Amino acid sequence: MSIQDRYTEIVSRIHQAAARSGRKPEDITLVAVTKTHTPEEINQAIDAGATDIGENRVQELLEKYDKVKPVRWHLIGHLQTNKVKNIIDKVVMIHSVDSLRLAQEINKRAAAAGLVMDILIEINSAMEETKSGIASGDLRELVSSITAECANVRVRGLMCIPPMAVEPEDARPYFIEARELFEEMKTWDLPEERFCPDVLSMGMSGDFEVAVEEGSTIVRVGSSIFGPRNYR
Ligand SMILES: *Cc1c(COP(=O)(O)O)cnc(C)c1O
Repeated sequence: MSIQDRYTEIVSRIHQAAARSGRKPEDITLVAVTKTHTPEEINQAIDAGATDIGENRVQELLEKYDKVKPVRWHLIGHLQTNKVKNIIDKVVMIHSVDSLRLAQEINKRAAAAGLVMDILIEINSAMEETKSGIASGDLRELVSSITAECANVRVRGLMCIPPMAVEPEDARPYFIEARELFEEMKTWDLPEERFCPDVLSMGMSGDFEVAVEEGSTIVRVGSSIFGPRNYR
């Protein structure tokens, strides 16, 4: 199957999962995750209708940025503070904020560029040591600090990556937990121009349908669209 065909198939599976759970398909955005894949491959996905592209690494994003057709870029991987300046005017959203220090740097660079950056807080519900993300118990304090200090940042919601699973169903409890936390966030009384929790980024190739059933608004799908990754 071509990248175009696979992209179209993923879109239709998202629509079916949405229908099963009584949701509107247009409430779910597919971010095509392109790490290790070439600009040519990314452009094929764009030709098939992809509007949103996710990259993990700043360096890779910068290498591809000018070679890819106009599209909305998302930074979904761990972001070092010293690299924020390189992507601040290139991405529409940063999914992986897990410290006040990173949010402060994003704020500083966004202010310098004259923009407001949308961010998600990455939660690590399983508290896996190998992963980034904050404990759910630390969310409120982090979001309060960010909204108090960062005028050029807008907290849009949460990103969650459950532990590696064997079956898609294994991820469901983590997705439910993330959704509950997301719903709780919506009750927090924080300044609207810095805080509008309407994005729940969860679900990857192995489990995006379960994520949609549990309320995801962004799924990040890579290998099911582009094939297996060959890391150099
Ligand atoms: C690689 C990656 C994905 C996509 O993973 P697939 O299993 O290939 O769909 C999604 N989110 C993040 C943060 C990733 O690093």
